[in-house]
Formats: sequence, structure tokens, C-alpha cells
Amino acid sequence: MATRPDPSPAPAPLPQAARRDLTQRLKAQAQALGFDLVGVAPCSPPETYPLYLAWLEKGHHAGMGYMANERNRGRRADPRRILPQCRSIVVLGVRYAQQAAAPSPPPHDARPRGRVAAYAWGDDYHDVLVERLRRLIAFLEAETGHPVSHRYYTDTGPVLEREYAVRAGLGWVGKNGMLIHPRLGSYLLLAEILLGLALEPDSPTITDHCGTCTRCLEACPTQAILPNRSVDANRCLSYLTIEHRGVIPPDLRPRLGDWVFGCDVCQMVCPWNRRAPLWGDPAFAPRPHVPRPVLTEELALSPQAFNQKFKGSPIKRAKRRGYLRNVAVALGNAGDPSAVPALRQGLRDPEPLIRGHAAWALGQIHTPEACAALRQALADEPDPQVRAEIAQSLRACPG
Ligand code: SF4
Ligand code: SF4
Repeated sequence: MATRPDPSPAPAPLPQAARRDLTQRLKAQAQALGFDLVGVAPCSPPETYPLYLAWLEKGHHAGMGYMANERNRGRRADPRRILPQCRSIVVLGVRYAQQAAAPSPPPHDARPRGRVAAYAWGDDYHDVLVERLRRLIAFLEAETGHPVSHRYYTDTGPVLEREYAVRAGLGWVGKNGMLIHPRLGSYLLLAEILLGLALEPDSPTITDHCGTCTRCLEACPTQAILPNRSVDANRCLSYLTIEHRGVIPPDLRPRLGDWVFGCDVCQMVCPWNRRAPLWGDPAFAPRPHVPRPVLTEELALSPQAFNQKFKGSPIKRAKRRGYLRNVAVALGNAGDPSAVPALRQGLRDPEPLIRGHAAWALGQIHTPEACAALRQALADEPDPQVRAEIAQSLRACPG
């Protein structure tokens, strides 16, 4: 998210001692505002730009067209195309809870449950972090006594932010493509501020600590992690369950397991998270019934109930149709016949996307009740794609 279209020239550079002092005060204020990590990188073109271009050329950005559009490509090549006066990039990190902190379901409640990526358990980080970034900029302007040209982003900007995080001394990029801090692990949200003001830069002091480890590559349910520390979004469950708007490819549906929004597998297995704190910033504390939702209840969410439950939550990004699509797939993977009534209801949902995935799930369960529901739906279904899903699922049924 950018602010203030400010074409004013960069102010005269501060003497070194004053620059160092201002940088220290800015960092102290960032920590007082709740950022766990803060560092400063010089504003210069990223060295990983060719890797990003190669990633695009191979189509690894999948349906994320905004990653590939010409304007943003150019801006990623040099942050000074976003802010010509840019002299420094302040990179910030905030911890959120680890997946291992997910509350356990009550004993004796065996209903199938989904799993939500830990960053999405609480309030939307965009809203939380933008407020903190604004306050940090206000502090800086009060300290300098004049407006400072700036742009800030919380993961949405055309900035290769992990490289700047490394340059700012916040960690290293692991083989899973995530930024890892040796003490805080990888459950980190990143933000950055491009500043038309030269601050004292940090140096990339943290070297690669992945060593010979390959746990994330082996554990990834879809083999989405590429050898060059990037991820093929076409296969990544985070992309498929959040950004992808359409049908989930049938061969990847079983790989979703119980994930209904995002995926943390490549962080869960990382040894650097084992020694990191379990809990993160309280602003992202889990909302009730979000981390491990009861799948049959989620599939029954009306549009109003969905909006109410996920108001101000990152889960709204998937929209009801995407989230319930994922829920249906997770129910199919659970294979629990007790879910048949909920899935039969799913076959009557107004959204064809949900009906089609509910049909797939019933085919996975293929009890006589599941098959009867499919036969009934085939007779009534108006959408040709959903009819094809039902017909495919009926192949698992006797007769
Ligand atoms: S988020 Fe999940 S699917 Fe994506 S790369 Fe990591 S382990 Fe693989
Ligand atoms: S699991 Fe191992 S290889 Fe993967 S990011 Fe963590 S340390 Fe690196």
C-alpha cells in the first residue's frame, strides 16, 4: 500500500552521527510499536531480479497476474522507480503464532476439522501493520521536523522484500523461500518503508543456516518447492486455497489434506521454528473456531454468516466460494460418512464451484447415502461442469 504522491526532492543528507542517532531512535520506536525485527537496507536495485524474471517466465506465478504486469515488473527492478527520492528501505518483521500453537479440539469431539494457516487465525495483518507503519512515519517526521517522502507496503507492493530483509540483517531466505531469523524462526510478517531519507544501513550479517537440511522440500505435500528457494505457485496449497479462484485440479485435491486456507507444512517441519517462540504478536491471536474449524459447520455458512465470521480476517480474501470449495475438498479427504448430510446440502449451494467440489467429496466417501445424493443431484444439476464432476464421482459408486 502506498501513500502520499510526494515529488519533493530528497532533503540534504544528515551528518553521519545525526543519521546514526536518528536510525537508532527509529528502530526503538518500531519496537515500541510492536515490530519484532527492524533493519535498514540501502535503496538500490535488487540482485535477485533476474531470478524473479525467470520465475515469471516459467509461469510459476500461476494466476497472480499482478506479479507479472509490465508496470510492476519495472518497479521491482529498482525501488527508485516507485519513489525516485528513495535512499533507504526500512524493513520490519512481526511474529505470529506457530501452527504448533493451534488449540486442540475438545476431547470426544471427533468431527472432521480443517486447518488454517497460522497467519490467518486473527485480524488481518494488513490492517494491523498499516496502522503501525503510519505511526512510525509520523514519528520520523516529528523527529526530523519536516515531511519525508515515503511509500510503505505490507507484502502487497512491487518490492522484492525478502532480499531487502536479508540486506537489512533480518535473516536469510531458506530453501522453502521464507525469510528465517535464527531466534524468531520463519512465522514472520514483513513490511517495508521506502524513504526519501538516508538512514544508517545495516549489513546482511546472518548467513544461510539451512546447511544440508531438506526437510521442507521432502515434506511439501505437492513438491511445490523449487531448487532455487522459490515456490511454483501452480502447485502450492497456499496459492490454490487462497488466490486461485477456480476449480482445484483433481490430482491435487487429495494433497490438500485438511488445509482449508493456506498451508504451513514447510514452516512446521523447519528446525529453526522448533527453537523459536510458540506464540507471536497478540494482535494476531486466534479468533474462536478459526484455527481448526469443524468442517461440516463451515460448509453450512451462509453468505451473511461467512461475512460475519470473517469480518476483518485474512480469510475473506478467498471469498465464501473459495473457502467453502476448500472445506468440501477437506471433507472428501477426511472420508467421514457423517459428513454426507452437510455435503448433500453443499450440492444445493447457489455457487457451482461449491457444488462441484461437494460432489467430488461425496465420491471420495462413496457410501450408499453419498451415492444416492450424487444420483439425485445429477438429475437436478443445471451446470455442465458440475454435472461432469458428479458423473466422475459416481464412477466410485456401485452400479
Ligand atoms: S506452503 Fe505448503 S504447498 Fe506451499 S510450498 Fe510450503 S509446504 Fe509446499
Ligand atoms: S526445513 Fe531445512 S532446508 Fe527448509 S528452510 Fe528450514 S532449515 Fe532450510
